[in-house]
Amino acid sequence: MSTARHEEFDVAVVGGGPAGSTLATLVAMRGHRVLLLEKETFPRYQIGESLLPSTVHGICHLLGVDGELADAGFPRKRGGTFRWGANPAPWNFAFSVSSKVAGPTSFAYQVERSKFDNILLENASRKGVDVRQNRTVTDVVAGEDGRVRGVRYTDADGTGHEVSARYVVDASGNTGRIHHRVGGERKYSDFFRSLALFGYFENGKRLPAPNSGNILSVAFKHGWFWYIPLSDTLTSVGAVVRREDAAKVQGDPETALRALIAECPLISEYLTGATRVTTGQYGQLRVRKDYSYHHTKFWRPGMALVGDAACFVDPVFSSGVHLATYSALLAARSINSVLAGTVGEQRAFDEFEARYRREYGVFYEFLTSFYDMHIDEDSYFWSAKKVTRSSRPELESFVELIAGISSTEFDLSDTESGALRLKQRSAEFADAVDTLVEAREENMTPLFRSSVVRQAMQEGSQVQTRAQLGDAAGEDTPVLDGGLVASSDGMSWREPDPGR
Ligand code: FAD
Repeated sequence: MSTARHEEFDVAVVGGGPAGSTLATLVAMRGHRVLLLEKETFPRYQIGESLLPSTVHGICHLLGVDGELADAGFPRKRGGTFRWGANPAPWNFAFSVSSKVAGPTSFAYQVERSKFDNILLENASRKGVDVRQNRTVTDVVAGEDGRVRGVRYTDADGTGHEVSARYVVDASGNTGRIHHRVGGERKYSDFFRSLALFGYFENGKRLPAPNSGNILSVAFKHGWFWYIPLSDTLTSVGAVVRREDAAKVQGDPETALRALIAECPLISEYLTGATRVTTGQYGQLRVRKDYSYHHTKFWRPGMALVGDAACFVDPVFSSGVHLATYSALLAARSINSVLAGTVGEQRAFDEFEARYRREYGVFYEFLTSFYDMHIDEDSYFWSAKKVTRSSRPELESFVELIAGISSTEFDLSDTESGALRLKQRSAEFADAVDTLVEAREENMTPLFRSSVVRQAMQEGSQVQTRAQLGDAAGEDTPVLDGGLVASSDGMSWREPDPGR
């Protein structure tokens, strides 16, 4: 191993996806020395194309790329259109309470991830991050005191390097290999145990305006489909099925995808006359399985996990990039505060972990409700997705996930109260969707009143408001009992004002 020139950084980031580039940029913007090591050469392919507004108007605004995103020509997403639940009619979930009077920030984008991720990574470089592509991190370096103090990596010609850093942030996604070095373990979810088979089509049909940029999600007997418009003509199409069907798709994915499409009338109709892309980055059919999990620890002294390296929960509500960039913001606040000497490490990272777990828990509950509301008693896929049939280890895992989060919203003592809570939330959400569908109008109030939706939108809109308004957003309130608040620019933590 070559150690000719030993380098030192404040932070070494592993992975240049949305989580890694967001964290690296937000720390470099505070004047710290940041190294980002990325295994591949960008632009590179990635799945996860449907974004949420808080990423676009909150985090991307803080990063200073919202203008560049607006110029990139990505389709605007006003929300989601779902053929899902008891009612056969498709219904809309708009990001604004009334879809007739949409606010200036109540939309997101559908993005080609190769382009979106490249915009974020190039921006990191411009903001002072030392970005090195084609470098694979092989391990972390830990001191005898147990503190992580750097990383080892190999470059394109196989030469090994070691660098020191006060913090190492693992943002290497679901395929990374160093997450276990934080301690604890990665726990896979039984409830969300699925498999996705996906590809790309040219000239598929579009939803009628003004919802033509929406993601279309369609439930069918064996699972559900996503249908995401990436340009006027290009569409990302994926089927999510039960994991037990793996053999079926591994044989010949083309035949399997065609057969699944044929079983879903709405997707078949939308793809009438469309052709599958067979060349370039979109030319192959891909499979992802067992993709919902969380790590039991998110940090240790000198190291933190963000994005898919820490956790991921099912793609049905497009929360992956939100959780990746939100966790990066939280970790950047903690690192910026500790490096500035304004908050102690334990307190700063406990805040990071608790807020991150809370947000993951909020989406976990919301997505559980989403699956629970779809009624198809004859389908193995859908009956396995009933909350009432959730296995005990899964509920224990949920309770463990959010245990210790000192917040009145998550007041769970045991598995029974966890199960009860999930069932109540699901029933309330199903009622809200029924009300929406029956009213046949595009007023989202019933949805936004339901606990799971209110919670799922709450923290994202906080981030958005602070990023857009800064000081004018007023004093932040702690999310957690006795917790910290964001600084007025949203880039670090501080103690709340006494007396509030
Ligand atoms: P990644 O985007 O995976 O980036 C990690 C980076 O780390 C990669 O560039 C990788 O090359 C690099 N890396 C890995 N190992 C190393 C190493 N050893 N050294 C250096 N670099 C390394 N999310 C949404 O928001 N919307 C969606 O519609 C959506 N759909 C999805 C559909 C499916 C089927 C699945 C499985 C996921 C979906 N997601 C979606 C989730 C989304 O893909 C992820 O949550 C998101 O990409 C996470 O970003 P990240 O930065 O954590 O990781």
